[in-house]
Amino acid sequence: MQVQKQQNIKSNNIKMVLGIIKDRQSTEISRADIVKITRMSPTSISRIVDILISRGLVREDDVVTTDRAGRKGTGLKVIPEGILTAGVSIDSDKLGLCIMDFADRVVASKEFMLKQQKYEPEEIISLIQEMFTDVCGESPYGKEQIGAVGISCIGNVDYKKGDIYFAPQFGWNHIDFGIRARQALGRPVYMENDMKAAITSVVWQEKKYMDEDVTYLSIGMGVGSAVMFHGIIARGSDNAFGEVGHVIIQPNGRKCDCGQRGCVQTTLTRNSLIEECQEAGFDITKVEQIFEAYRTGQEWAVEFIDRTAGDLAMLIRNLVYMYNTSYILVGGALILDFPELLHLAKKKLSDLIHINLYSSLHIIQVRTQNNSMTGAAFIAQANRINEIVESI
Ligand SMILES: [Zn+2]
Repeated sequence: MQVQKQQNIKSNNIKMVLGIIKDRQSTEISRADIVKITRMSPTSISRIVDILISRGLVREDDVVTTDRAGRKGTGLKVIPEGILTAGVSIDSDKLGLCIMDFADRVVASKEFMLKQQKYEPEEIISLIQEMFTDVCGESPYGKEQIGAVGISCIGNVDYKKGDIYFAPQFGWNHIDFGIRARQALGRPVYMENDMKAAITSVVWQEKKYMDEDVTYLSIGMGVGSAVMFHGIIARGSDNAFGEVGHVIIQPNGRKCDCGQRGCVQTTLTRNSLIEECQEAGFDITKVEQIFEAYRTGQEWAVEFIDRTAGDLAMLIRNLVYMYNTSYILVGGALILDFPELLHLAKKKLSDLIHINLYSSLHIIQVRTQNNSMTGAAFIAQANRINEIVESI
């Protein structure tokens, strides 16, 4: 017990020092700076830094830094090829795959559009295998250097076992996807739900959110959310926390796949926007046609988008009352292509939310794309760090 406790303290200290060096890549950081931040002894810090250097994770920079007191120190940098991971996203309409280095840069990536058909898990895995080989070919690193793969998937994912419980878009139930992917790819695979991977990417790239309560809301082919309270993902009992697609916002609204009426998914996804216009008798086959009509001031489109923005505002209102996070980050393909929808929704919110809650609320558009894919690469990286550190 005591030995285990000692080991945990040691691992945590190594991870903490590595995290400090990693987070300060834009500025020079020396051993003395780390001593100051951690309040650990110079000997301990030097020992840990030496371990990180010997493991090929950190190097000493050529630049010598001088602190305010005039003391000299050598800057420390992470080695980009120290940990290389792949991130995969499985969405209902496409697959994405990227290679990420230890400086958190995506060095190569690729997308594959899925056809409108049911795919077996094995078919998706062999597509991922092909993409993995292709993307590694385009990256500066060899396939054998990629230490782990993160895979994010729509639906209900057991991130501990790596199973996909339920992905209705593919008709999958209780699939041991992680184990199968691990065998096919020949390296550790870590699974996560797509929204939880996305919030990981957004928050880890903007570190100030680590100290806040944050909701990520994605509007695209589907609608989903994830929540982080001070850097910790809220998961619920079955990792299904944040599945807001079936929250009802129009009690007598359109029929949903789930059997109810007026779920968020029946009014705020790419396809539901098209269907709603078609049902109203408009000749619309692409969502871009609706945006175009709105932007040129066509009355029906202005009215329709205004109503849709009202639905989005209502959803955001519900999220505020459910999760009470001070930040709501709104992303997804629909918002990226059509930010007006979010602007209009924001205007409606002041009337919908009590001033006490509204005054501390920040609603921010997420402009990065493919967050589930990069998030999966981050998750693989964090797991690789744990494995390496625990083996020390
Ligand atoms: Zn529903």
